[in-house]
Amino acid sequence: MKKPSLREFFNLLEKENKALRIKEEVSVKFEIPFITKKLEPYKAVMFEKVKEAKIPVVAGICGSRERICRALNINEEKLYDKILEALKNPLKTKIVEDGEVKEVKEKPNLKKFPILIHYNCDKYPYVTSAIISAKNPDNEEVENVSIHRLQVLDEKHLAIRIVPRHLYKLCQIAKDKGKNTLDIAISIGNHPAILLAASSPAPFGVSEFDVANRMLNGELKLIECENVNARAPANSEIIFEARILLNKLVEEGPFVDITGTYDAVRLQPLVEVVNVLRRSDCIYQALIPAGFEHKLLMGLAREAKIWEAVRNVVPTVKAVRLTDGGCGWLHVVISLKKQIEGDSKNAILAAFSAHPSVKHVIVVDEDIDVDNLSTVEWALATRFQADEDLIIIKNVRGSSLDPSAEQETGLTCKAGFDATIPLNKPKEKFEKAKIPENQKVKDILSKLNFKI
Ligand code: MN
Repeated sequence: MKKPSLREFFNLLEKENKALRIKEEVSVKFEIPFITKKLEPYKAVMFEKVKEAKIPVVAGICGSRERICRALNINEEKLYDKILEALKNPLKTKIVEDGEVKEVKEKPNLKKFPILIHYNCDKYPYVTSAIISAKNPDNEEVENVSIHRLQVLDEKHLAIRIVPRHLYKLCQIAKDKGKNTLDIAISIGNHPAILLAASSPAPFGVSEFDVANRMLNGELKLIECENVNARAPANSEIIFEARILLNKLVEEGPFVDITGTYDAVRLQPLVEVVNVLRRSDCIYQALIPAGFEHKLLMGLAREAKIWEAVRNVVPTVKAVRLTDGGCGWLHVVISLKKQIEGDSKNAILAAFSAHPSVKHVIVVDEDIDVDNLSTVEWALATRFQADEDLIIIKNVRGSSLDPSAEQETGLTCKAGFDATIPLNKPKEKFEKAKIPENQKVKDILSKLNFKI
């Protein structure tokens, strides 16, 4: 079996007509983001000729569920099990001496990489597909791997957005030990399993590399960096060996996050790149903020967790979706076969506890397709009464990404919508009527010169 890498996976997609190449010269400023955003639900894309750099750009790799399943070599029905199993049984990743990413070792010059400028009010190029790995200063056996946006300031400095999760905790531990810096490896151009694992809710103390390694059936290999104390995938395309300067804060932003709106500009830590490792013919990986890929990578493991939590209380759950319109993060639609009145409300509570960023949950019966939002709305219109079927929870912790949440305190109001048919009412009153079809009408329609 070939080693899991971004380029091997792109080649596989290309062979299966799931990826394409753009040969015209395009700019990192708006042009690559625009084309990628249009294409990503359908195809991954490689931009061979970039105006500002000699390095090609691959984008939209994980822009559809189908492509993520292809990367993990599974059918969609097995996706949640695969993610949950990897989270429960991380597999220790082997360290190797050498790797393709060590072909070139050079002084840092971020200007030579095709780093994108995405949206109209952006002021800086941003690296958005990088995974950041760091060891715990208290115990080097403990490692964290996560995805963070990186704002390019000059040839060797970046600003890094760190929300109060695991990397933040490692920074605090380093500070408590009197250190001014935390060593990190910034790896760009990786197999989708590594990105998916790095954005999954693995508990503190679990290396997301080991989660990815389980997804990849033990095929992942790591190298020790040469100039900093951190590990990185041996066949990444590019690694920036770097240090977070814990006491130097800079303004980070403006940046468009998963909601598609501009996130607040905040003071965030400065990063100094000390050295670059890369393949000689390296490919840069781009990821469009607020695009399908961003939402899927952030949301999928959360969706799996919600599915598991709902299944624990309502075993007849059929499907769970973090919807695209809900930013792949804030809205959940759950379909289930209600057996006892109240199952649907228990499902709402389970979803809120499984993913604290969830703001609205809609529960529908199993005849409603969670991917067809027009039908979900139809269920709300015909099966929901606000005075009985609405749960409102005020002043709870929500997502900092929601611009309508209280920005200072992070407090928000959550709502659950039970759009299932009440069990004590006649079911047929709520079912959608159908027009009977026969072969004759099917034949007439199939002869028409357009596809329905
Ligand atoms: Mn972690």
